[in-house]
Amino acid sequence: MEESLTLQQEFGECEICLETDVQLYGITGGTCTHSFCLMCCTDHIVAGVREFKDIKCPKMGCEAKLNG
Ligand SMILES: [Zn+2]
Ligand SMILES: [Zn+2]
Repeated sequence: MEESLTLQQEFGECEICLETDVQLYGITGGTCTHSFCLMCCTDHIVAGVREFKDIKCPKMGCEAKLNG
């Protein structure tokens, strides 16, 4: 699997778990600019890969696809 996470080098609020002051990762290949903490990114991608689903941006309501 191609590496699809990029380190944003910034701290802020994760859009999924709403944890504050976490290091944020953006997901490249998508069309949005949402960013999430590493744990949420990994959980989401691992789940998507395991189920052979299209991986979309984990942000609720965002339909940006992350894997082509
Ligand atoms: Zn999170
Ligand atoms: Zn998004």
